[in-house]
Amino acid sequence: MTDARPVPTFADVTDAARILAGIAHRTPVLTSRTLDRRTGARLFLKCENLQRAGAFKFRGAYTALSRLDAQERRAGVLTYSSGNHAQAIALAGRELGIPAVIVMPTDAPAAKLAATRGYGAEIVSYDRYTADRETLGAALARDRGCALIPPYDHPDVIAGQGTATLELLDEVGELDALFVCLGGGGLLAGATLAARARSPRTRIYGVEPAAGDDGQRSLRTGTIVHIDVPRTIADGAQTQHLGHYPFAIIRDGVDDILTVSDDELVDCMRFFATRMKLIVEPTGCLALAGALAQAGRLAGQRVGVIVSGGNIDLDRFARLTAPGEDVDPRCHAVGTSGTAGPPGSSRAASGS
Ligand SMILES: *Cc1c(COP(=O)(O)O)cnc(C)c1O
Repeated sequence: MTDARPVPTFADVTDAARILAGIAHRTPVLTSRTLDRRTGARLFLKCENLQRAGAFKFRGAYTALSRLDAQERRAGVLTYSSGNHAQAIALAGRELGIPAVIVMPTDAPAAKLAATRGYGAEIVSYDRYTADRETLGAALARDRGCALIPPYDHPDVIAGQGTATLELLDEVGELDALFVCLGGGGLLAGATLAARARSPRTRIYGVEPAAGDDGQRSLRTGTIVHIDVPRTIADGAQTQHLGHYPFAIIRDGVDDILTVSDDELVDCMRFFATRMKLIVEPTGCLALAGALAQAGRLAGQRVGVIVSGGNIDLDRFARLTAPGEDVDPRCHAVGTSGTAGPPGSSRAASGS
């Protein structure tokens, strides 16, 4: 942690809820008799795929930007991301009149570039194979004198993400178990702050792709484990390590971290689309896949599932869900437009 700010608490989550009132969508909580039959439990799905800009990331981005002072607002903000955090920062910047610079790889998908530009952000391109986005982002932020808002390792981002779980608990009451999609840990850390305060007996589970089990290993060893960019269709969870702020909360507050396969994510994408009429991106399916894998242990329980996002091109959605298709993560790494990065490249990080 370079900045000396304290680890956020539940009070920061309730502050964020006030900031977001009337600005972020209060997303619906859906239930499914089919899921309840399959698990013997009562599942409550918090649908952040229906959030503004298509993912919970808007909550953290808007919270962080609205906490900047007048001078910081004039100077603008910068982030590095090719995914949902980029669009969230761009949209939050437009809403608050704060100029946003997004550092994106030169080979980011055209649709993502267009969406980010469409919200009025400036895009700075870099070559993901020769440059490191974190170093570049930090240098650029310093040169331009603007605030750097990373996708998960930031107190205000975590507090904002926690409001999704706060709303869920406000709406349905206490839960026996809660399943949360896990990348760098901002969403899970925020969920933990909210659940520990409002529903203290809830068992909290993070769910990450089997190909990137750094979170599970970190929880079990008690220190942040670093890995190579995982090969998975869950592009929002291709993070190489948990953030320091998230880990400080997750380490003590989370019961376990589970992993699921890409095939299980595809099964959930199909289920969401055919039975619930929801488009959910692969990363957004992690929590439901984790809950289904635990089905035997959930009988009779009240279970929360955070459905984290729905941003996926229709052609990729069709390819992944086509009957009999083999899931090949190399063809779906975010920003690679169908080409795999060099083996072992740790620079192809897309994270979130
Ligand atoms: C960013 C993201 C995640 C992971 O969130 P973290 O805060 O990095 O753990 C999960 N799902 C979606 C859809 C995301 O965009």
